[in-house]
Amino acid sequence: MSEKIPYKIYLEEHEMPKQWYNVRADMKKKPAPLLNPATLRPCTAEELGNVFCDELVKQELNETDRYIDIPEEIQEFYKMYRPSPLVRAYCLEKKLDTPAKIYYKFEGNNTSGSHKLNSAIAQAYYAKQQGLKGVTTETGAGQWGTALSMACSYFDLDCQVYMVKCSYEQKPFRREVMRTYGANVTPSPSNTTEVGRKILAEFPDTNGSLGCAISEAVEKATTQDGYRYVLGSVLSQVLLHQSVIGMESKIAMDKYGITPDIIIGCAGGGSNLGGLISPFMGEKLRGEKDYRFIAVEPASCPSLTRGVYAYDFCDTGKVCPLQKMYTLGSGFMPSANHAGGLRYHGMSAVLSELYDQGLMEAVSVEQTSVFESAQQFARVEGILPAPESSHAIKCAIDEAIKCKETGEEKTILFGLTGTGYFDMYAYGAYNDGRMSDYIPTDEELQKSFDTLPKID
Ligand SMILES: *Cc1c(COP(=O)(O)O)cnc(C)c1O
Repeated sequence: MSEKIPYKIYLEEHEMPKQWYNVRADMKKKPAPLLNPATLRPCTAEELGNVFCDELVKQELNETDRYIDIPEEIQEFYKMYRPSPLVRAYCLEKKLDTPAKIYYKFEGNNTSGSHKLNSAIAQAYYAKQQGLKGVTTETGAGQWGTALSMACSYFDLDCQVYMVKCSYEQKPFRREVMRTYGANVTPSPSNTTEVGRKILAEFPDTNGSLGCAISEAVEKATTQDGYRYVLGSVLSQVLLHQSVIGMESKIAMDKYGITPDIIIGCAGGGSNLGGLISPFMGEKLRGEKDYRFIAVEPASCPSLTRGVYAYDFCDTGKVCPLQKMYTLGSGFMPSANHAGGLRYHGMSAVLSELYDQGLMEAVSVEQTSVFESAQQFARVEGILPAPESSHAIKCAIDEAIKCKETGEEKTILFGLTGTGYFDMYAYGAYNDGRMSDYIPTDEELQKSFDTLPKID
């Protein structure tokens, strides 16, 4: 095509996706089912319905419908902040002096500052449809809690957020944004739940962890009438909602006849990466096209690159269903110097299975190199990226530099999941030269693997 590709490729409202794409429908070997921790049998819809909203349970268990309609009301909400821009990183290409063509899908264009709102609004919608009073959840870095509080205020639902304690203390402004949207925010572990009190008794000085906040939020949901628990990543339903990222990217690229060679995303629980790659992975699974997919994770929390593929607990309190996934063990905690998110011990079951089948690659990167890339990107592209997103930037830059060495004109697409305005302590540490890297030893990981449930 001779026409110059614009800096930003937007979609008209009528071009926006009206359905989510369910990649499991095209997987010949499906992800393993969730197991009930008490019986070790696959969870039934009824069992899951005690914790999650009914419609979301249906989506969680749906492995056959390739497309699922996005309810009209969610489509309308999406129109407030979507389509998210697909940007051609001309300035970065020039700076790197690479023949590679680099595109990024920017999800930071809403107040939550990340892609999490795409699933939060869907989950709040289904909770409202079911006539619930409210929902409970956990948040680590704070983006999910912010997104959910926005979605709940839109639907007049009560929103109770358990925020990992160190993050609650380090990011007071995240907390205030949530409170502004009407959410109730509690640092976790707390004495408001039985599991929280138990953890506090055992580890009085703990800074908290995601796994622990999940246990508290689940307990709170199941012990209050008219409440359910919602989760912002890892689950297959969340990947489904996030497929809107990949669908929009694909529609926009198809419009200009662009085909990516490499698609890159940062991976915490796997939702943005899963959503971004879904429609492209579908083509690969159906044998229509081939792409390279790369998951990028922190070297300090390397679930895909150094974890084991096994059934594990999703939370510290061991109250959630067991999931087969690449995991570091549910007791794993990244070292204290780890900044930013991507600190969950496990990975989405869908992505774990795709990775296990060799359909996706994974790399791990150290945080000082991540911040170096973040700074390099910010200085030319104008966006201050979230530390999480910067893992993808680092890998995209590495791939673009390889193209420079080989002279290949590859097209790279990466997910820029959000902005980093609430991460300035971490940026400060990097700018001062105080940031260090930590890679867990094999012995440390083995200690954590020893706690995996024994399941044949
Ligand atoms: C939550 C978050 C992530 C990681 O979560 P995934 O489920 O792996 O996508 C990445 N970037 C940002 C900005 C986030 O808020």
